[in-house]
Amino acid sequence: MNERDLIEDLVTANHILYNEGVVDGFGHVSVRHPARPDRFLLSRSIAPGNVKAEDIMEFDLDGNAVDARGRKPYLERFIHSEVYRVRGDVQSVVHNHSPAVIPFGVTNTPLRPLSHMSGFLAGNVPNFEIRDAGGPATDMLIRTPQLGVAFARTLGGAAFALMRGHGAVAVGDSIKQVVYRAIYAEMNARLQSEALRLGDINFLNDAEAAGADAANYANMDRPWELWKMRVRKNAV
Ligand code: MN
Repeated sequence: MNERDLIEDLVTANHILYNEGVVDGFGHVSVRHPARPDRFLLSRSIAPGNVKAEDIMEFDLDGNAVDARGRKPYLERFIHSEVYRVRGDVQSVVHNHSPAVIPFGVTNTPLRPLSHMSGFLAGNVPNFEIRDAGGPATDMLIRTPQLGVAFARTLGGAAFALMRGHGAVAVGDSIKQVVYRAIYAEMNARLQSEALRLGDINFLNDAEAAGADAANYANMDRPWELWKMRVRKNAV
């Protein structure tokens, strides 16, 4: 995909994630540069719902803006830069603070896939403890490369990670996949909290999670087009 089309999809992803309740005034989504794998594209520091093409900035893997032109970057861009540095398979990253995932970062209850839409949560969902890397008195933000490195280490090879007392990060091999994962991780978290109140949960086993994930992967365009349509509808 050329850079212009990719930026258009990135703008759309910002609007979808806002529209679907994954980001609000905060949170962000990035994509690796199509021609320069050592760079990525991410909006300047504004609410995702307001992002336009001219807000998209280019960064290197140290989190430095290539041509800032007076635009202010997100403080937490180091989440993106350090994940792209060590995860060659990752083409897109979402960071969000959506409400349903937060309880799983602050309790011992692991987030696990209970719906066939969230098989990518199979295995151990990592939970980033910022005190381990930043000590007991941070402002909770990944505001340095060093904290970004520590976060990327916690994420490891996973598709999704929690951040204790803060939020979560989804990664994927495309903008469509990462948007899907961020939306369905939030949904799974909400459903898991509801199911916990009803009784013991029968989670997907690893084979079911992998099978369901592969099946949904073949249909990434379908929800994307629907979410996009909703963005257009809400904009009128
Ligand atoms: Mn944050």
